Amino acid sequence: MAQSEKQVSLVIPLYNEEEMMPILIEKLEEFRSKNSVISEVIFINDGSRDKTEALVYELTSTLTGYHLINFSRNFGHQIAVTAGLDFVTTDAAIIMDADLQDPLDTAGKMIEKWQNGYDVVYGVRKERDGESVFKKATASLFYRFFKWITDLDIPLDTGDFRLLDKKVIKAYQSVSEQQPFVRGLITWLGYDQIGIEYHRESRKAGETKYPLKKMIRLALNAITSFSDKPLRIATQVGTILSILAFIGILWVFYVRLFMDTAVPGWASSLLITLFLGGVQILFLGIIGAYLARIYGEVRHRPRYLLKNSWKSDGTK
Ligand code: UDP
Ligand code: MG
Repeated sequence: MAQSEKQVSLVIPLYNEEEMMPILIEKLEEFRSKNSVISEVIFINDGSRDKTEALVYELTSTLTGYHLINFSRNFGHQIAVTAGLDFVTTDAAIIMDADLQDPLDTAGKMIEKWQNGYDVVYGVRKERDGESVFKKATASLFYRFFKWITDLDIPLDTGDFRLLDKKVIKAYQSVSEQQPFVRGLITWLGYDQIGIEYHRESRKAGETKYPLKKMIRLALNAITSFSDKPLRIATQVGTILSILAFIGILWVFYVRLFMDTAVPGWASSLLITLFLGGVQILFLGIIGAYLARIYGEVRHRPRYLLKNSWKSDGTK
Protein backbone atom coordinates (compact mmCIF):
# COMPACT_ATOMS: atom_id res chain seq x y z
CA MET A 1 0.00 0.00 0.00
CA ALA A 2 1.30 3.45 -0.84
CA GLN A 3 2.17 5.62 2.15
CA SER A 4 -0.42 8.20 1.05
CA GLU A 5 -3.24 5.72 1.50
CA LYS A 6 -2.36 5.19 5.13
CA GLN A 7 -4.72 6.59 7.71
CA VAL A 8 -4.14 8.80 10.75
CA SER A 9 -6.09 9.17 14.01
CA LEU A 10 -6.31 12.18 16.26
CA VAL A 11 -6.13 11.40 19.98
CA ILE A 12 -7.69 14.17 22.06
CA PRO A 13 -8.16 14.04 25.86
CA LEU A 14 -11.12 15.96 27.24
CA TYR A 15 -11.57 17.17 30.78
CA ASN A 16 -14.41 19.62 31.36
CA GLU A 17 -14.10 21.04 27.86
CA GLU A 18 -17.77 21.97 27.25
CA GLU A 19 -16.87 25.48 26.09
CA MET A 20 -14.44 24.03 23.55
CA MET A 21 -16.55 21.26 22.03
CA PRO A 22 -18.55 23.20 19.40
CA ILE A 23 -15.52 25.10 18.12
CA LEU A 24 -13.24 22.07 18.33
CA ILE A 25 -15.54 19.88 16.27
CA GLU A 26 -16.13 22.63 13.74
CA LYS A 27 -12.37 23.07 13.26
CA LEU A 28 -11.78 19.31 13.14
CA GLU A 29 -14.40 18.89 10.42
CA GLU A 30 -12.90 21.75 8.45
CA PHE A 31 -9.46 20.15 8.75
CA ARG A 32 -10.69 16.67 7.86
CA SER A 33 -12.43 17.95 4.75
CA LYS A 34 -8.98 19.01 3.54
CA ASN A 35 -7.02 16.04 4.92
CA SER A 36 -8.74 12.82 4.00
CA VAL A 37 -6.04 10.72 5.70
CA ILE A 38 -7.63 11.52 9.06
CA SER A 39 -10.16 8.76 9.32
CA GLU A 40 -10.66 8.69 13.07
CA VAL A 41 -10.89 11.09 16.00
CA ILE A 42 -10.54 9.46 19.41
CA PHE A 43 -11.83 11.51 22.33
CA ILE A 44 -10.96 10.33 25.81
CA ASN A 45 -13.36 11.84 28.27
CA ASP A 46 -11.26 11.95 31.45
CA GLY A 47 -14.16 12.01 33.93
CA SER A 48 -15.54 15.39 32.91
CA ARG A 49 -18.20 16.70 35.25
CA ASP A 50 -19.70 19.17 32.81
CA LYS A 51 -21.58 18.67 29.54
CA THR A 52 -18.57 17.45 27.54
CA GLU A 53 -19.89 13.90 27.08
CA ALA A 54 -23.41 14.99 26.09
CA LEU A 55 -21.97 17.51 23.64
CA VAL A 56 -19.85 14.87 21.90
CA TYR A 57 -22.98 12.76 21.25
CA GLU A 58 -24.95 15.79 20.17
CA LEU A 59 -22.36 17.25 17.84
CA THR A 60 -20.84 14.14 16.28
CA SER A 61 -23.61 11.53 16.01
CA THR A 62 -24.27 12.40 12.38
CA LEU A 63 -20.54 12.58 11.53
CA THR A 64 -18.23 9.73 10.66
CA GLY A 65 -15.14 8.53 12.46
CA TYR A 66 -15.65 9.86 16.00
CA HIS A 67 -14.85 7.52 18.86
CA LEU A 68 -15.57 8.47 22.46
CA ILE A 69 -13.94 6.62 25.36
CA ASN A 70 -15.46 7.49 28.73
CA PHE A 71 -13.31 6.95 31.82
CA SER A 72 -14.99 5.93 35.08
CA ARG A 73 -13.48 9.03 36.73
CA ASN A 74 -10.67 11.55 36.23
CA PHE A 75 -7.38 9.70 35.78
CA GLY A 76 -5.30 12.62 34.53
CA HIS A 77 -4.06 13.86 31.19
CA GLN A 78 -1.08 11.52 30.77
CA ILE A 79 -3.22 8.44 31.41
CA ALA A 80 -5.91 9.76 29.06
CA VAL A 81 -3.35 10.09 26.26
CA THR A 82 -2.00 6.61 27.01
CA ALA A 83 -5.50 5.13 26.87
CA GLY A 84 -6.27 6.96 23.63
CA LEU A 85 -3.26 5.29 21.98
CA ASP A 86 -4.64 1.89 23.04
CA PHE A 87 -7.66 2.48 20.82
CA VAL A 88 -5.87 3.60 17.67
CA THR A 89 -6.62 1.30 14.73
CA THR A 90 -4.98 3.37 11.99
CA ASP A 91 -1.35 3.64 10.81
CA ALA A 92 -0.41 6.65 12.95
CA ALA A 93 -1.85 8.94 15.60
CA ILE A 94 -1.47 12.58 16.51
CA ILE A 95 -1.81 13.47 20.20
CA MET A 96 -3.26 16.93 20.65
CA ASP A 97 -5.04 19.07 23.24
CA ALA A 98 -8.72 19.89 22.99
CA ASP A 99 -8.21 23.64 23.34
CA LEU A 100 -6.65 24.10 19.87
CA GLN A 101 -3.41 25.36 21.42
CA ASP A 102 -1.80 22.80 19.14
CA PRO A 103 -2.63 24.17 15.68
CA LEU A 104 -4.22 21.84 13.15
CA ASP A 105 -2.00 23.31 10.41
CA THR A 106 1.00 21.96 12.30
CA ALA A 107 -0.72 18.56 12.53
CA GLY A 108 -0.94 18.67 8.72
CA LYS A 109 2.82 19.31 8.53
CA MET A 110 3.45 16.41 10.91
CA ILE A 111 1.56 14.12 8.55
CA GLU A 112 3.77 15.25 5.65
CA LYS A 113 6.93 14.48 7.63
CA TRP A 114 5.55 11.07 8.53
CA GLN A 115 4.71 10.40 4.89
CA ASN A 116 8.35 11.20 4.18
CA GLY A 117 9.40 8.40 6.49
CA TYR A 118 9.73 9.75 10.04
CA ASP A 119 8.28 7.67 12.88
CA VAL A 120 7.79 10.46 15.44
CA VAL A 121 7.16 14.10 14.62
CA TYR A 122 7.02 16.32 17.70
CA GLY A 123 6.02 19.95 17.97
CA VAL A 124 8.57 22.40 19.37
CA ARG A 125 6.97 25.48 20.91
CA LYS A 126 8.63 28.55 19.46
CA GLU A 127 6.29 31.14 20.90
CA ARG A 128 3.49 30.77 23.38
CA ASP A 129 0.48 33.04 23.40
CA GLY A 130 -1.97 33.74 26.17
CA GLU A 131 -0.11 31.93 28.94
CA SER A 132 1.03 33.63 32.11
CA VAL A 133 4.65 34.72 32.49
CA PHE A 134 4.77 32.35 35.46
CA LYS A 135 3.62 29.36 33.38
CA LYS A 136 6.05 30.11 30.58
CA ALA A 137 8.97 30.69 32.96
CA THR A 138 8.32 27.56 35.03
CA ALA A 139 7.83 25.45 31.90
CA SER A 140 11.04 26.73 30.34
CA LEU A 141 12.96 26.22 33.59
CA PHE A 142 11.51 22.76 34.05
CA TYR A 143 12.57 21.47 30.61
CA ARG A 144 16.12 22.66 31.20
CA PHE A 145 16.27 21.25 34.71
CA PHE A 146 14.79 17.96 33.46
CA LYS A 147 17.45 17.70 30.80
CA TRP A 148 20.16 18.26 33.38
CA ILE A 149 18.82 15.83 35.96
CA THR A 150 18.10 12.96 33.58
CA ASP A 151 20.34 11.24 31.11
CA LEU A 152 17.53 11.47 28.59
CA ASP A 153 18.16 13.72 25.63
CA ILE A 154 14.64 15.12 25.65
CA PRO A 155 14.06 17.90 23.12
CA LEU A 156 13.48 21.26 24.84
CA ASP A 157 10.10 22.98 24.83
CA THR A 158 8.09 20.07 23.54
CA GLY A 159 4.77 18.92 24.93
CA ASP A 160 2.75 15.86 24.06
CA PHE A 161 1.66 17.32 20.72
CA ARG A 162 3.22 14.80 18.34
CA LEU A 163 2.59 12.24 15.66
CA LEU A 164 3.45 8.60 16.31
CA ASP A 165 3.73 5.87 13.73
CA LYS A 166 1.95 2.59 14.45
CA LYS A 167 5.19 0.84 15.35
CA VAL A 168 5.98 3.54 17.92
CA ILE A 169 2.49 3.20 19.39
CA LYS A 170 3.10 -0.53 19.69
CA ALA A 171 6.44 0.07 21.38
CA TYR A 172 4.82 2.58 23.74
CA GLN A 173 2.21 -0.01 24.68
CA SER A 174 4.95 -2.38 25.79
CA VAL A 175 5.90 0.15 28.48
CA SER A 176 3.59 -0.55 31.38
CA GLU A 177 4.49 2.19 33.86
CA GLN A 178 1.70 3.17 36.21
CA GLN A 179 2.43 6.87 35.93
CA PRO A 180 3.77 7.33 32.42
CA PHE A 181 5.49 10.59 31.48
CA VAL A 182 4.42 10.42 27.86
CA ARG A 183 6.83 12.83 26.16
CA GLY A 184 9.81 11.42 28.08
CA LEU A 185 8.91 7.82 27.28
CA ILE A 186 8.47 8.56 23.60
CA THR A 187 11.93 10.14 23.49
CA TRP A 188 13.26 7.10 25.33
CA LEU A 189 11.72 4.73 22.74
CA GLY A 190 13.96 6.07 19.99
CA TYR A 191 13.10 5.49 16.29
CA ASP A 192 13.41 8.21 13.67
CA GLN A 193 12.25 11.36 15.39
CA ILE A 194 12.10 14.90 14.13
CA GLY A 195 10.82 18.17 15.59
CA ILE A 196 8.91 20.91 13.83
CA GLU A 197 8.57 24.36 15.27
CA TYR A 198 5.19 25.91 15.82
CA HIS A 199 3.56 28.89 17.38
CA ARG A 200 1.56 27.81 20.42
CA GLU A 201 -1.66 29.75 20.34
CA SER A 202 -3.80 30.67 23.31
CA ARG A 203 -6.59 28.44 24.56
CA LYS A 204 -9.64 29.07 22.42
CA ALA A 205 -12.28 28.71 25.16
CA GLY A 206 -12.59 27.65 28.80
CA GLU A 207 -9.81 27.62 31.37
CA THR A 208 -6.64 25.62 31.82
CA LYS A 209 -7.19 22.18 33.33
CA TYR A 210 -3.58 22.16 34.55
CA PRO A 211 -3.46 24.15 37.81
CA LEU A 212 -0.14 24.57 39.62
CA LYS A 213 -0.76 21.46 41.73
CA LYS A 214 -1.07 19.24 38.65
CA MET A 215 1.97 20.88 37.06
CA ILE A 216 4.09 20.13 40.13
CA ARG A 217 2.83 16.54 40.17
CA LEU A 218 3.71 16.14 36.49
CA ALA A 219 7.19 17.57 37.10
CA LEU A 220 7.89 15.30 40.09
CA ASN A 221 6.58 12.30 38.21
CA ALA A 222 8.79 13.17 35.26
CA ILE A 223 11.88 13.37 37.46
CA THR A 224 11.26 10.23 39.50
CA SER A 225 10.46 8.24 36.37
CA PHE A 226 13.65 9.17 34.55
CA SER A 227 16.33 9.97 37.09
CA ASP A 228 17.89 8.69 40.27
CA LYS A 229 20.12 11.74 40.48
CA PRO A 230 18.23 13.26 43.47
CA LEU A 231 19.13 10.11 45.45
CA ARG A 232 22.75 10.32 44.36
CA ILE A 233 22.86 14.02 45.25
CA ALA A 234 21.50 13.12 48.70
CA THR A 235 24.35 10.66 49.18
CA GLN A 236 26.92 13.19 47.99
CA VAL A 237 25.62 15.98 50.25
CA GLY A 238 25.52 13.53 53.15
CA THR A 239 29.13 12.52 52.50
CA ILE A 240 30.36 16.11 52.31
CA LEU A 241 28.50 17.09 55.51
CA SER A 242 29.89 14.07 57.36
CA ILE A 243 33.44 14.96 56.32
CA LEU A 244 32.93 18.58 57.45
CA ALA A 245 31.45 17.41 60.75
CA PHE A 246 34.41 15.07 61.31
CA ILE A 247 36.88 17.89 60.69
CA GLY A 248 34.84 20.01 63.15
CA ILE A 249 35.05 17.30 65.82
CA LEU A 250 38.82 17.04 65.42
CA TRP A 251 39.07 20.79 65.74
CA VAL A 252 36.96 20.87 68.93
CA PHE A 253 39.09 18.13 70.52
CA TYR A 254 42.28 19.85 69.47
CA VAL A 255 41.22 23.15 71.06
CA ARG A 256 40.06 21.39 74.27
CA LEU A 257 43.21 19.29 74.66
CA PHE A 258 45.97 21.56 73.47
CA MET A 259 44.72 25.04 74.26
CA ASP A 260 43.57 26.69 77.45
CA THR A 261 40.04 27.28 76.23
CA ALA A 262 37.10 25.29 74.74
CA VAL A 263 35.17 26.18 71.56
CA PRO A 264 32.27 28.31 72.87
CA GLY A 265 28.74 28.80 71.56
CA TRP A 266 25.61 26.68 72.07
CA ALA A 267 23.75 28.88 69.56
CA SER A 268 25.95 27.73 66.70
CA SER A 269 25.59 24.08 67.77
CA LEU A 270 21.81 24.50 67.79
CA LEU A 271 21.81 26.05 64.33
CA ILE A 272 23.94 23.27 62.93
CA THR A 273 21.68 20.66 64.52
CA LEU A 274 18.59 22.31 63.05
CA PHE A 275 20.22 22.61 59.65
CA LEU A 276 21.20 18.95 59.62
CA GLY A 277 17.71 17.99 60.80
CA GLY A 278 16.26 19.92 57.85
CA VAL A 279 18.62 18.28 55.38
CA GLN A 280 17.72 14.85 56.73
CA ILE A 281 13.99 15.43 56.45
CA LEU A 282 14.40 16.79 52.92
CA PHE A 283 16.32 13.72 51.85
CA LEU A 284 13.81 11.43 53.53
CA GLY A 285 11.19 13.21 51.43
CA ILE A 286 13.20 12.49 48.28
CA ILE A 287 13.49 8.83 49.21
CA GLY A 288 9.76 8.89 49.98
CA ALA A 289 8.97 10.15 46.47
CA TYR A 290 10.76 7.15 44.95
CA LEU A 291 9.20 4.79 47.46
CA ALA A 292 5.74 6.07 46.53
CA ARG A 293 6.55 5.42 42.91
CA ILE A 294 7.66 1.87 43.63
CA TYR A 295 4.55 1.30 45.75
CA GLY A 296 2.42 2.55 42.86
CA GLU A 297 4.10 0.08 40.51
CA VAL A 298 3.86 -2.98 42.74
CA ARG A 299 0.15 -2.58 43.39
CA HIS A 300 -0.45 -3.36 39.72
CA ARG A 301 -3.75 -1.56 39.58
CA PRO A 302 -5.23 -0.96 36.15
CA ARG A 303 -4.06 2.39 34.81
CA TYR A 304 -7.57 3.41 33.87
CA LEU A 305 -11.12 2.10 33.96
CA LEU A 306 -13.68 2.61 31.24
CA LYS A 307 -17.28 3.53 31.86
CA ASN A 308 -18.19 2.86 28.25
CA SER A 309 -17.22 3.71 24.70
CA TRP A 310 -19.16 4.92 21.71
CA LYS A 311 -18.64 5.43 17.99
CA SER A 312 -20.39 8.03 15.92
CA ASP A 313 -21.46 5.48 13.32
CA GLY A 314 -23.63 3.83 15.94
CA THR A 315 -21.56 0.72 16.75
CA LYS A 316 -20.23 0.06 20.24
N1 UDP B 1 -6.88 17.15 30.44
C1 UDP B 1 -7.28 15.85 30.79
N2 UDP B 1 -7.28 15.49 32.11
C2 UDP B 1 -6.90 16.34 33.10
C3 UDP B 1 -6.44 17.64 32.73
C4 UDP B 1 -6.44 18.00 31.39
O1 UDP B 1 -7.65 15.06 29.92
O2 UDP B 1 -6.96 15.95 34.27
C5 UDP B 1 -6.86 17.54 29.01
C6 UDP B 1 -7.56 18.84 28.65
O3 UDP B 1 -8.93 18.65 28.42
C7 UDP B 1 -6.82 19.27 27.40
C8 UDP B 1 -5.39 18.76 27.66
O4 UDP B 1 -5.52 17.75 28.66
O5 UDP B 1 -7.31 18.65 26.23
C9 UDP B 1 -4.44 19.84 28.12
O6 UDP B 1 -4.98 20.56 29.20
P1 UDP B 1 -4.91 22.14 29.29
O7 UDP B 1 -5.08 22.73 27.94
O8 UDP B 1 -5.92 22.59 30.31
O9 UDP B 1 -3.46 22.34 29.83
P2 UDP B 1 -2.47 23.58 29.53
O10 UDP B 1 -2.44 23.75 28.03
O11 UDP B 1 -3.07 24.73 30.22
O12 UDP B 1 -1.18 23.15 30.10
MG1 MG C 1 -4.01 24.02 26.87
